[in-house]
Amino acid sequence: MEISKKDALVIVDMQYDFLPEGTFPQANGEIIIPMLNKYIELFTSHQTAIFFIIDWHPVNHCSFQSNGGRLPVHCVEGTHGASIHAFLKVPADAIIIRKGTNHDKDIHCLFEESSFDSNLKANRITTLFIGGIATEFDVKDTAIEACHQGYNVFLLSDAIKEADITPGSSALAMKQMKEVGTKAIQIKDLIIDPNLGELLVP
Ligand code: ZN
Repeated sequence: MEISKKDALVIVDMQYDFLPEGTFPQANGEIIIPMLNKYIELFTSHQTAIFFIIDWHPVNHCSFQSNGGRLPVHCVEGTHGASIHAFLKVPADAIIIRKGTNHDKDIHCLFEESSFDSNLKANRITTLFIGGIATEFDVKDTAIEACHQGYNVFLLSDAIKEADITPGSSALAMKQMKEVGTKAIQIKDLIIDPNLGELLVP
C-alpha cells in the first residue's frame, strides 16, 4: 500500500487528561506513543497531512459534572491536561483540530462542529489513517463518522488502545468499525519504501 497526498494521518485524543495520570483516563495510551511516532515519521516522509484531534473545552463546558454534565472536568483549554503528550513528535506543520469548544454542546459531531471536514476538503484528502485513544470511544466515533462522510478509513490497529472499562467493548467497537467499511491495518502494511524500511520496521 502506497501513501499519497490524498492520505492523512489522524491521531485522536492523545492528551494528558485522557492518559492514566489525567482527570479522565481513557486508556493506557502511553504504550502506543512509540508506534504513533513511527507513523508520524512515515507520513512526514511522504509529506502528507498529519492531524491531531484534541478535546478543547471551555471551563464551563456542559459535559462536566461541575456544570451538571456526566463527565469529570477534562481537557480545559490551555491547561496541561489538554496538552498533547510531550513524547509525541508533533510536526511543526501538523494540523490541530479542536473539538468540544462550545460550552453548550456535548460534542461528538466532529465533522459538523470542528474545522476537520473543511480542512480535509481544502487539502483534497480522501483517505484517513486513524490512531489514538480510546478504541471504543473517540477513535470509533471518528472512524465511523468519517466513513459516513464518504472517506476511506484505515484503522491503525497497532497504534490504538482500548479503555476496556466494559469487557468486550473494544472487540465490539472493532466489529462496528469494520461493518461500516473501516479496514484495520498495521505499520508493516504501509512500509513500501526500502530506504525507510530499516528505520521504520517495529
Ligand atoms: Zn470532552
